[in-house]
Amino acid sequence: MVVATNLGFPYVGAKRELKKSVEAYWSGKISSDELKTAYQNIQKNHWILQKEQGIKHIPSGDYTLYDRVLDTAQQFGVIPTRYQHIHDPLQQFFAMGRGLQKPATATTEKVDVPAQEMKKWFDTNYHFIVPEFEPNQQFTLQNPRAVEQYNTAKALKIETRPVIVGPVTFLHLGKAAKGFDNFDTLSLLPKVLPLYIDLLKQLEAAGAEWVQIDEPALVLDLPDSVKAAFEEAYKTINAATSINTLVAAYFGRVEANISGLIPHVNGVHLDLVRAPEELDAILPQLNNSQVLSLGLVDGRNIWINNLAKSIELGQKAIAALGKERVFVAPSCSLAHSPFSTSFEKKIAEKNPELLSWLAFAVEKTKEISIIASALENGPESVKEALAANAAAIESRRTSAQTTNPAVRDRAINIPVADWKRPAGFSARREAQVKKLNLPLFPTTTIGSFPQTKEIRVARQKFNKGELSSEDYDAFIKKEMKEMVAFQENVGLDVLVHGEPERNDMVEHFGHLLHGYDFTENGWVVSYGSRCVKPPVIFGDVSRRGPMTVDETVYAQSLTKKPLKGMLTGPVTMMKWSFVRDDLPLKDVCTQIGLALRDEVVDLEAAGIPCIQVDEPAIREGLPIRRADWDAYLDWSVGCFRLSTAGVRNETQIHTHMCYSDFNDIFDAIVDLDADVLSIENSKSDEKLLKIFAVKKYPQEVGPGLFDIHSPRVPSVEEMSVIFDNVIKYIPKEHAWINPDCGLKTRGWPETEAALANLVEVARQFRAKYA
Ligand code: GLN
Ligand code: ZN
Repeated sequence: MVVATNLGFPYVGAKRELKKSVEAYWSGKISSDELKTAYQNIQKNHWILQKEQGIKHIPSGDYTLYDRVLDTAQQFGVIPTRYQHIHDPLQQFFAMGRGLQKPATATTEKVDVPAQEMKKWFDTNYHFIVPEFEPNQQFTLQNPRAVEQYNTAKALKIETRPVIVGPVTFLHLGKAAKGFDNFDTLSLLPKVLPLYIDLLKQLEAAGAEWVQIDEPALVLDLPDSVKAAFEEAYKTINAATSINTLVAAYFGRVEANISGLIPHVNGVHLDLVRAPEELDAILPQLNNSQVLSLGLVDGRNIWINNLAKSIELGQKAIAALGKERVFVAPSCSLAHSPFSTSFEKKIAEKNPELLSWLAFAVEKTKEISIIASALENGPESVKEALAANAAAIESRRTSAQTTNPAVRDRAINIPVADWKRPAGFSARREAQVKKLNLPLFPTTTIGSFPQTKEIRVARQKFNKGELSSEDYDAFIKKEMKEMVAFQENVGLDVLVHGEPERNDMVEHFGHLLHGYDFTENGWVVSYGSRCVKPPVIFGDVSRRGPMTVDETVYAQSLTKKPLKGMLTGPVTMMKWSFVRDDLPLKDVCTQIGLALRDEVVDLEAAGIPCIQVDEPAIREGLPIRRADWDAYLDWSVGCFRLSTAGVRNETQIHTHMCYSDFNDIFDAIVDLDADVLSIENSKSDEKLLKIFAVKKYPQEVGPGLFDIHSPRVPSVEEMSVIFDNVIKYIPKEHAWINPDCGLKTRGWPETEAALANLVEVARQFRAKYA
């Protein structure tokens, strides 16, 4: 029988229930037992829901309270020394994920540990916690999540397929713990494998028939040693266990990476949305009992599946393998897509045509079971569903909502000069130094200040029509006034308006552009408990009118210090949206670049001296395979320049990037040609700074001095250590002082304290070097 399967579900919940419970636990409002109950209820509801949609292999073990890689690390005893004194496992887990700061009490000592490093999960906007290994790492197996969740489901009489993070991906994504020289983390494979075997045996003993072992590292460019590690790992596992193993690769093509392991597993899962051509390549490699899991339904996007096309691919697989050996699946875990379109009342009311083009996780599971039924019992058996799907696909293809001839025209007639600023950096710098008159080591922030409860409540009231537009504007002005006053008092040099009017750096602009729409509940997890609600780009993009000029000009009117306008760059606008899949990304990006260019020019004309165009997503937009990089960097860098090149020399263009490894796209970063770059740095190793020296980075740069994801307040001393390092690699006259990123997720007390310390760092260094 063709099996309808799923690889993972949006664990955060339809209304972000899990996030709310986790945060209630953090703030002491609920106990760990209450958190556990909440979490188990959510799981239970989701398992039932997937079953109702017709999924036969329902995943378990994919639920986490913070991050699945962190779960994996903790369950294997990969606990860096600095967390080992925290004995409560749950507290330790959250300390590793988000840091922990607790004052001393009569009976306990003070606790102050920063979080572990966070990195983007492949090319998604999800961030995982990077495991830290020691060369003589000892592994232990404690309370494996997959076993716990499998048993929980079983007690509810729900049969599930456990999911675990595979050994090679786990080790390969990890890094050497602090204090140890870099070493090959995969050298630990022989040590960790016995524990994986133990885990698989526990799952089998519990009654699991299949286990899904996630090995997304299979889609990376891999050296032979890693390919060999895959082979060794699965050969060893296969020899020692008898549970059915399904190794899942997703987010790209596996090419030859997978060949060595295929003989040692019971099935493989391929992402046929990203790499449909791999079906033909893999079929001949399977023996006559292995299963192929077809990733046919896009787990990364929100558009309905083309069921007829999926069925065609499925039939091809069946022709080669037979029905018994085919699973139908999403391309990757559905945790990357929002929960269900059934909560989208506004789109249903205002744009039902658009709604008919959308499928979120619940709808995707339904699509999977329709495809599986069509393959098992023939397309006739799901005739009505297929007809409705074909009609929706045709309506999208022909809809006037998706095309604006004026925008298309402008995009194909861009003058060559518009892609580049008229003068080089040294001429621009001279003009900017004269105009801005900044001290040595200028201080600034990345844009946002705490989004307080008050701000969120006001916005909610405004959106519900309970607060008039005048009152909301007045409220935002009051906030900006306080934020500007705070920045002046604390002594920052280049101020920002603080972004109180923005719920989100992408959604906010989406509302001001044509071609975008918004969901009410389309949340996906970005890291830990933090969720984002990406807007939907469904049509051609252009400005509705000036987007930020009013608030930026108002904030500048409150201070004599230079104010930095704040925009979200074209690549990030696109990357953090759900993007139409009926136009090349490059064309979507060009349209956004043009819209932003108009805004940058308007800000300059309104007297704003500095303009930051954030591109935190440029690195994550990189194709997973290097062979595809140049083409991507060419158009993405081009679109950034298109958006920023319309200004005079004295206007200082800033850009900002965070949370990834930039070394390998360094030349592209130089090519952005921004006057000032701020970059996440506080938790990175020296490698990041070194490259600025090695490559003689020509422009100015502010490597972040503190982690904004953690509520702990960094001391002057610890930031000074980092900044001392900064000026080892970056010419002093080019070095800026700033946090890692925006402060919107922080509270005011820690923000005030952290920025006061940051300004103090600048004072001390100026005293030493000015
Ligand atoms: N300007 C944005 C902010 O400060 C940048 C956020 C980001 O890089 N993710 O919030
Ligand atoms: Zn950032």
